[in-house]
Amino acid sequence: MSEQDNQTSVRRFLSVFQYSRVAIEIVWSTSAALTIVMAITTLIAGVLPAAIASIGGLFVDAVATAINSQGQEAELARSDVLRYVLIEAGLVVLMTGAQKANGVCQSILRVLLGNKINVMILEKALTLELAHFEDAEYYDKLVRARREASSRPLSLVIKTFDLIRDLIALLTIGLFLLQFSVYAVLLLALAGIPAFVAEAKFSGEAFRIHRRRSAERRMQIYLEMVLTREDGVKEVKLLQLGKLFLDRYVNIFRDIYKEDRNLVLRRGFWGYVLGLLASAAFYFAYGWVGLAAIAGAITIGQMTMYIAQFRLGQNAVTNSLTSVNGMYEDNLYLSNLTEYLAHKVPEQSGDQVAGPDPADGIRFEGVSFYYPGSKTPALDNVSLHIRPGESLAIVGENGSGKTTLIKLLTRLYQPTSGTIYLEGLDLADWDINALRQKIGVIFQDFARYQMLVGENIGIGDVEDLEEQNLIEEAARKGMADEFVKDLPAAYQTQLGTWFKDGKELSGGQWQKIALSRAFMRSKADILILDEPTAAIDARAEAEIFAHFRDLTANKISIIISHRFSTVRMADHIIVLEKAAIMEEGSHQELLAADGQYATLFNLQAKGYQ
Ligand code: ADP
Repeated sequence: MSEQDNQTSVRRFLSVFQYSRVAIEIVWSTSAALTIVMAITTLIAGVLPAAIASIGGLFVDAVATAINSQGQEAELARSDVLRYVLIEAGLVVLMTGAQKANGVCQSILRVLLGNKINVMILEKALTLELAHFEDAEYYDKLVRARREASSRPLSLVIKTFDLIRDLIALLTIGLFLLQFSVYAVLLLALAGIPAFVAEAKFSGEAFRIHRRRSAERRMQIYLEMVLTREDGVKEVKLLQLGKLFLDRYVNIFRDIYKEDRNLVLRRGFWGYVLGLLASAAFYFAYGWVGLAAIAGAITIGQMTMYIAQFRLGQNAVTNSLTSVNGMYEDNLYLSNLTEYLAHKVPEQSGDQVAGPDPADGIRFEGVSFYYPGSKTPALDNVSLHIRPGESLAIVGENGSGKTTLIKLLTRLYQPTSGTIYLEGLDLADWDINALRQKIGVIFQDFARYQMLVGENIGIGDVEDLEEQNLIEEAARKGMADEFVKDLPAAYQTQLGTWFKDGKELSGGQWQKIALSRAFMRSKADILILDEPTAAIDARAEAEIFAHFRDLTANKISIIISHRFSTVRMADHIIVLEKAAIMEEGSHQELLAADGQYATLFNLQAKGYQ
């Protein structure tokens, strides 16, 4: 083996421990006191068994002396026997105390740590951008980090401490055995090392295999979700997808299984063979001690002690192998967690809370945008100007870039080129919180919060969450008021099916709740409705938009809709096609121009005749 190979195999061997430090750091920052107590009790639990065994040896010798002697010597030996019993009992009390304290610390830490890590994960999630959530690999890290947040880090810490305890125990035993023979210590140590190295190697290998497979596992988790969740079940049943999806699931399992089985077999084989080597050394030493006692080189008490030490050593080796064996799964978790937490999120730039020219409204100048990894633009050189008091309607086919325009305006994404100005200030220079407060937006895939009706509307403006009359007013404008009044507990009704007595609403009713939420944001200067009204009939939609426009008399309102009965009310209309603005103007102007808008309008008008 070359030196480089040596280095990589050493590194691979040590890789099992690479996350122990991270785990201990997290535990330390959760509670330094508990970590210290754990460390001390671990130390005690590591040293004491060997000491107890050696007292046992002294006890046997004292008993033998007491039997074989008389007079004062026998008296002395007898009091020795009692003394050793008391000392050993004392040590056992100390050791069980340490073990108990260790267990208690673990229980408390588990709870604290679970909460701490979940909070860390969620705090990080708050700093992420929309693009992170759309990045499959990164999103997967978030999901996996959350799944085992309460068990894995502590488990790794416990295993690390256990391992340290067993190593301390081995060291202590080694020191005791040195009195017997240096060679015996060397023999036992050398015989134990191969099993340990093999375990660490296989553990590292399993770690790498699992990491490589994350895409397959993600597909499995996805299939599980589709097959078991309420929103997937309807189609799975009606389109009879169950068998197809289940087969895919099983096929992924088969591929993974083969690799896993091979590893488990190799691991089992080598574990057994190398374990035999350690056992052989142990029994060799066992016989050696027996012969030494027969030859009179050591006393019966010493022999008892050495044999007890051997057994302890044997146990410590087995235990540490088990710890190393289990570490790879914890490592897997922590590697995922640390990558998730370490991911750099670009700082939201900008600290301005107002622009130099409020009357300028919104201005797009040559704005283009490409989604990450996409070669075709979702918006291509778009220029646009909307003044305060104006209403804008955006029409266009699916995929023409309407929602993308809104996402750029709300700074969920940054333009690839070109600039968007609000009140004469580059959007990027705005303080993100100030900017978001100026904008109220409801997307077509708005959220359906499994909370009370009143909260679902009130969160449109968190500051007014408790203002019942504002909530009811918003509900009236969003036309939700009528059906909310008929719900069992009106505005206090729980929505959704997750919680007890939750009411599920129809698609149209949910949309009215979402619209009311938009009306709740009365302090915003820009209000945007991105097709949240598809399930509401055309007349109600037009009525809602009329409200909306009145309400926004000196504000900017933007609506995306496929219904010309609504669109025609807007002051300014743009027609998007293939990422670019194709036509723009007022309803009358666009009809007069007799282009795409006029064609679509007439088509829809005919449909209603
Ligand atoms: P519209 O709202 O007009 O239906 P969008 O703005 O949603 O259209 O989409 C414009 C284009 O951008 C489409 O071609 C779509 O495939 C693409 N697109 C939309 N969202 C994403 C996304 N999150 N990642 C990558 N591409 C996207």
